[in-house]
Amino acid sequence: MSDLVVDGLVAGYGDAQVLHGVRFTVRQGEVCAILGPNGAGKTTLLRALSGMVKARGTITLGGTDLTGRPPDAVARLGVAHVPEGRGTFMPLTVEENLRLGAFVRRDRAAVARDLDRIYTYFPVLKTRLKQAAGSLSGGEQQMLAIGRALMLRPKVLLLDEPSLGLAPLVTRELFRIVQAINAEEQTTVVVVEQNAHLALGIAQQAHVLETGRIVLSGTAAEIRADEQVAQSYLGYR
Ligand code: ATP
Repeated sequence: MSDLVVDGLVAGYGDAQVLHGVRFTVRQGEVCAILGPNGAGKTTLLRALSGMVKARGTITLGGTDLTGRPPDAVARLGVAHVPEGRGTFMPLTVEENLRLGAFVRRDRAAVARDLDRIYTYFPVLKTRLKQAAGSLSGGEQQMLAIGRALMLRPKVLLLDEPSLGLAPLVTRELFRIVQAINAEEQTTVVVVEQNAHLALGIAQQAHVLETGRIVLSGTAAEIRADEQVAQSYLGYR
């Protein structure tokens, strides 16, 4: 099984340590939500998992040690990161962006099949193939960013605030598609999300991160039922 196992994770920027020993496991094929206030270190956690910030401790995927490897090596080993703000190449077309996602792959026939698969999840992208990514709506850009990540055939998809700046209807559609991808491809998903309702709606497990430490872990139902979480993140009680 390709479980993602994180233990004693310490990371930060220069002298500023942001993560202070984070430990959790995401079982293969599960959706894991990371909740927490602004500045808690959620983005830094995803960056550490994808090798974008240096980390100490251990990160393993299916027993393979990812700790300290550069981002392209981590990507090759199956971890695709969709950063906050999406990271699409605005002047390039939709198709060029998607093909860039397959940069580590040489199997051209399989890449063509994967493009078709991505159009079934995101039909709108197929109608925009020759358009510059910069001309897409916010929701379409997020779809493109996820589509591009899927071109890696990842075992793990890291999603940072996918709902940022999107209308509620678009966000719901996006989460529905993420859930379909998870169900159909058994892709493990780690999602950082301000909209706790949505994230808990698709997650099996969730963790609350505060000042660089996990302060609460449980099933999505347990986390939803927690008084403190309800007050801080779900807007009731
Ligand atoms: P948000 O929801 O606001 O994005 P977050 O939980 O994702 O918050 P991070 O973005 O990981 O939190 O930030 C954690 C801490 O690290 C903050 O104090 C932030 O100021 C700091 N930080 C983030 N990025 C950098 C950087 N590139 N250089 C220096 N410090 C940074």
